[in-house]
Parts: sequence; structure tokens; C-alpha cells
Amino acid sequence: MNVNQMKLKRVINASGKMSILGVSTFSNDVIEAMREGAQHYYEMDELYKESGKIVAQYLNTESALVTNSASSAIALAVAGLVTKDDAYLVEHLHSDPIHKEIIIMKGHMIDYGAPVSTMIHLGGGYVKEVGYANGCTLQQLELAVTEQTVGIIFIQSHHCVQKNMPSLQEVSKLAQEKQLPLILDIAAEETFYKYTNLANLLIISGSKAIEGPTSGIIAGDRQYIKYVQQHYQGIGRAMKIGKEGIFGLLKALEIYKHEQLSKQQQITLLDHFFELEKISGLQVKIHQDESGRNIFRAQIHVDEKKTKYHAQKLTKILQEGDTAIYTRNYFLNVGYFEIDPRSLSHQDVEMIIYSIKQILGG
Ligand SMILES: *Cc1c(COP(=O)(O)O)cnc(C)c1O
Repeated sequence: MNVNQMKLKRVINASGKMSILGVSTFSNDVIEAMREGAQHYYEMDELYKESGKIVAQYLNTESALVTNSASSAIALAVAGLVTKDDAYLVEHLHSDPIHKEIIIMKGHMIDYGAPVSTMIHLGGGYVKEVGYANGCTLQQLELAVTEQTVGIIFIQSHHCVQKNMPSLQEVSKLAQEKQLPLILDIAAEETFYKYTNLANLLIISGSKAIEGPTSGIIAGDRQYIKYVQQHYQGIGRAMKIGKEGIFGLLKALEIYKHEQLSKQQQITLLDHFFELEKISGLQVKIHQDESGRNIFRAQIHVDEKKTKYHAQKLTKILQEGDTAIYTRNYFLNVGYFEIDPRSLSHQDVEMIIYSIKQILGG
């Protein structure tokens, strides 16, 4: 058996930076850096320290650590706040009952492929939900703080409830007033610098916008990063990033330009999809990302009566073709799917339009 014998389909990714499809693809420069990292030995402690320094410089924070995913970055950040510098607690994070609360708004209790609450539990935190599924007030947050509270986590994501929620700025101010550290999950955001002063610990994915290998970053205040670091000999061991991953991540950060495609480039690519309006029952609209990122998507609205296909069925057939086409499918229940342009070439766009025409007979 060899690697080429695996039966894997070619995938066209019109869904965005999705973990289920391998998130992103690496440039040759990133691959070259990974090769360099993989083919040498290092004093790993030094490599962790030095790479953290460089990441902190890029993000303009006091300190930083690299890990193997944004999920483990959440768990480690929580673990740091739960134990602070108590070596006994670090060693007994899960074996002794420790009731330390991490406050989270209910509208932020998302599942990004795994529940964010699972990562808080993994870090030894008690998940204290505040507010309701459709809203939360600043006062509710404030009243939830007790002696047991060790931090607040804010999830900045398109997955979260956006309406009737306090803004990040408001929550950041409240955390400061209450002298509680704020963990800010910006794993899937495209720009980071504007968040630096709003939180004590930032959580970033190395493989989404940055397009590095599977990795994550915890960046922020020196004191809190120190607390987190102790857990590299604890639960962090199960979240270890290898030397090749560190080298790849640093190279990806070095060449990372946020907003890889300009608005105009995205719209030019998406404009091709208006051709689908020739098919009776399809309507195309261009729409900006729900959480306001510089991402534009084509919404393909499917009139089931005219096309004889529900949006759900159409996207399923696209996925099951010889080339698997993955669209962005958060709104199938209201009759449309989306095309995310970030990973698409012109050939991919043609292939998607061709496939939809094939299915609907246009
Ligand atoms: C993707 C994502 C994560 C997890 O990132 P991984 O690196 O896949 O663990 C966490 N939080 C949010 C908001 C995300 O979008």
C-alpha cells in the first residue's frame, strides 16, 4: 500500500475555510519552511519560546504561544486562568474538584465543528452561561460575576447571535472594570490587529485566514501567557505542535496579507454566477459576510416549485459528483446556498456553474 492508493475525490471548495475539507492550502514558501523545520533537530523548549516571541511581534502583543489548533488554544487559555500560578492545581487540573467559572453569553455557545463549551471544560473551567438564545444585556453579564469567576470569553464569529448582544467593546470595558481577564476567540477572523487592545488573551487559528499548517495561537498579556505555559507539561502535551508546524506557521504569518482577495476581485469572480439566473427558478444575490468581514458571497436562491429541486437536494448532488463541490450551506432551510470565493479559481467557478446546469438541465 502507498499514499496514492487512498481513494480520495478532488474537492472544489466554495464553502470557505472549512475544517471538514482541510481548511486551507499552503503556498510553496510554507511547504519549504515546513521541510526545513522537519529535517533538523532543535532544542524544542527554545523553539517554543523563540516562535512565541516572533508571533507576539507580528500580533503586537506582549507574549504568545503556539499550539496545534485554536480549539486547544481555548482549552489552554482557560486552564491558565483556572490555575494561575498554583503548581498544585496545574498538576491536579481534572483530578481535584475546582469550581472556577468562565462566563460566556448564551448566544456565543456555538458549535464550530466542536462545541466551544467542550473546550472550556477541557481546560478545567466551569461554563457559566449568561442571557438567552436571542439576546443578553450588559447588566446580566455583570450580575453573573462571582468570587468563583476567573474570566470571560467572547467569541467573535459569524456563527454567534449578532442581534441584541453587547458589543465586544462593551464587554471588554466591563471585564476591565471587574478586573477579570477576557479571552477573545477570533479564530476565523481575517484581521487581528484591531483586537489587540480589547482582550487579555487572543485565540487565533493558524490554518484559517493565515493559511498555515494545522496550528493555533494564544497571544496576549505576559502574565496570563505565563499561566498558560505551565500547562504545556500538563494537558498541553496532548495538544503539541511539531517543529514542522511551527516553521510553517511562522512562514505563513510572514507572508500573510489580510484580505487576500479585494472586494472588487471577489465580486468579479462572483458575477459569473448571475449566468445561473437563465435557469428558471434560480436567483442570485451578492451579500457581505454576516459578521462584517471583508468577504462577499453569492447567494443562490432555489425556487423548488420551478426547479423541482430543494436547495438541500441540489447541494447534496453537487457534493456527490465525481468532483465533490462543497457550497456554503448554512441557509438551506430558507431555500438558498452560498458560494464563498476565497478558495476558488476561474476554472472552479466554471465547473460549479456547469454542474448546476447539468443537474437542473439549463
Ligand atoms: C474554527 C474555529 C475554532 C477552532 O479552530 P481549530 O483550529 O479548528 O481548532 C474556534 N473558534 C471559532 C470561532 C472558529 O471559527
